Amino acid sequence: MEKTIVAIATATGEAGIGIVRLSGESSVETVKKIFRPLDKKQIDKSQNKLMKYGHIYDNDELVDEVMVCFMFAPHTYTREDVVEIYTHGGIVCLKRVLNSCLKNGAVLAEKGEFTKRAFLNGRLDLSQAEGVIDLIKAKTSASHKSALNQLEGHLGKKIKEFREIVLDILSFVEYSINFTEDMQEDLPLDNVILKTEHLLTQMKELLNSSNQGKILRDGLNVSIIGKPNVGKSSLLNRILKQERAIVTDIAGTTRDLINEDVELKGIRLNINDTAGIRETEDVVEKIGVEKSIEASETADLNLVIFDISRSFDEEDEKIIEIANRKKSIGILNKVDLERVLVVSALKEKINFPLLEISALENRGIDKLEDTITDMFFDGKIEIENKALITNVRHQNNLRCAFEFLQSFLEDIKNSVP
Ligand code: GDP
Repeated sequence: MEKTIVAIATATGEAGIGIVRLSGESSVETVKKIFRPLDKKQIDKSQNKLMKYGHIYDNDELVDEVMVCFMFAPHTYTREDVVEIYTHGGIVCLKRVLNSCLKNGAVLAEKGEFTKRAFLNGRLDLSQAEGVIDLIKAKTSASHKSALNQLEGHLGKKIKEFREIVLDILSFVEYSINFTEDMQEDLPLDNVILKTEHLLTQMKELLNSSNQGKILRDGLNVSIIGKPNVGKSSLLNRILKQERAIVTDIAGTTRDLINEDVELKGIRLNINDTAGIRETEDVVEKIGVEKSIEASETADLNLVIFDISRSFDEEDEKIIEIANRKKSIGILNKVDLERVLVVSALKEKINFPLLEISALENRGIDKLEDTITDMFFDGKIEIENKALITNVRHQNNLRCAFEFLQSFLEDIKNSVP
């Protein structure tokens, strides 16, 4: 018999309510020993999924005033009997109720054990179980939606469809082993080739979704690079819609590298502003470039800023060199000032799109948002009820299956026995 597990299910801190959850065969018995319902009714299956009001006692000492929900197997999260106790949300209430459960036969759950049981008892498949953790960790509406899709089983369903087709192809292969031994004629291969090709196309499509899926789940690492005083901090403030980075025209102040999260059309952008670091005037240029290189290395996207009111120089040249190696968006800032920079000459040197903005006057920032979604999502972010790969493990396994199937197709086309 599996042990009955118990844990505090809500985040600990000060809150109106908190939840202690139990799962396992003796969870109902355990709670019965510490819970006194006001209506004094017998707790059995007639009370399934009803909220019961009452008090938790530790021996005869009152611990908390609570609501309790008894959920009987098999229609529960873990497919076992589950009980949830809604206590007041303070840490002492939660811990004392937890301890009372522990004293009365439950053991402390390990991390993720409720979901593990749901998986082991067939309530969730593995991709759904992974969806649970992604859903809990989701920070933006897009990552929330994609995790919810996974939890709803869209990915699992797609993979099961693939598996059916693979089994069908496999049955042909096994049949052909006997067939060739017994018969003289050739086997009709067209159908199996067609099926395999069709499946490979579908797998490729799903694999192609994985870059977007990763971005939906984890967000985009964005670096703002450019030489000092081009307006990097000003742009960051515009994107964040607040004065987070200190904007200054005095070089020589040292600040930390600024790292901020912002949501853009449901996507999380984790923005690195390299402007934060300036030391003495002598080393400004060197540090600017070094920091840009460092920040750009880990970035999925560079926002490369140029100052349109200053002429192009060697430093810009170095920054371009970095930006050309990665996905980048070029930004001509300070269009409110007189244009000095020769844009046509700049365009010849770069392999990324160029936008004009004024961070000071908050012009052109919308275009930047559109360019980012165009670049990574072909303009629109579609997550609705769609199987999507968001997880590296899924991506690797699918790629592996794809490669095996591809080599099978080659063999069969080349009549490898
Ligand atoms: P950073 O060193 O690249 O982070 O540049 P900052 O954002 O600190 O800006 C440097 C200076 O340029 C500040 O004085 C800003 O007010 C000014 N600045 C930034 N963006 C604009 C703009 O679009 N137009 C004008 N006229 N000035 C700007």
